[in-house]
Amino acid sequence: MIPGPTEIRECSSCRKHIAQNTLISGNNYGAVFWTDGKTDAPMLPDQPWLVKCPHCGALLWIDEQTQVGEIGGFDSEPNDLDSETTDAERFADASPALTPTLEDYVGFLKAGVHDKQKERYVRLRAWWAGNDPRRESSYQSTPLDSFEIENLRVFITLLNETDDGDRLMKAEALRELGEFAAAEKLLAAKFAKQRKEAVSIIRDLNQKRITVVEEMKFK
Ligand SMILES: [Zn+2]
Repeated sequence: MIPGPTEIRECSSCRKHIAQNTLISGNNYGAVFWTDGKTDAPMLPDQPWLVKCPHCGALLWIDEQTQVGEIGGFDSEPNDLDSETTDAERFADASPALTPTLEDYVGFLKAGVHDKQKERYVRLRAWWAGNDPRRESSYQSTPLDSFEIENLRVFITLLNETDDGDRLMKAEALRELGEFAAAEKLLAAKFAKQRKEAVSIIRDLNQKRITVVEEMKFK
């Protein structure tokens, strides 16, 4: 994993600084893959699009916050060290953004998201956040609550069945909703070769009438 420079952005709500770590390259070494599409990869840190300001708690689209500086960039020459120090000092208050919680997503969706791409992102993240406790085996039996059910029902309307990835995600959502016949119909369609193993894992769970998120162990 090769980290990139730290971008300093200004929170549009409180004007304080957010330090955004960037990544030049990462990999899937040691990654855990889940049926709902979440990947936990230690060498590829999650870089959320919607973040929570560490100072004021506002939920922000990180790429829409004005970048005001950068620390540790490749363009910093040795004779530039003084100005680097100045930059680091200037942004001494900068803290990394927080990842929103399930409650944050619920509130954000309640306020209304009027861009389909953003809504799709938030509903996917809300799904993952709701499933997080189920990734610990002892919580696996917890059924979806009413928010999660409604969230998934709206989420699947935002997916495009003609796209392999979307179709698989929709089938997984339907499986978790207990709509096994509808899921099977989607999973029985033709998928690209690289999806086949994931399709077979999800299809097997669906045929066994299992509704919880599961780790996908690829061969
Ligand atoms: Zn803020």
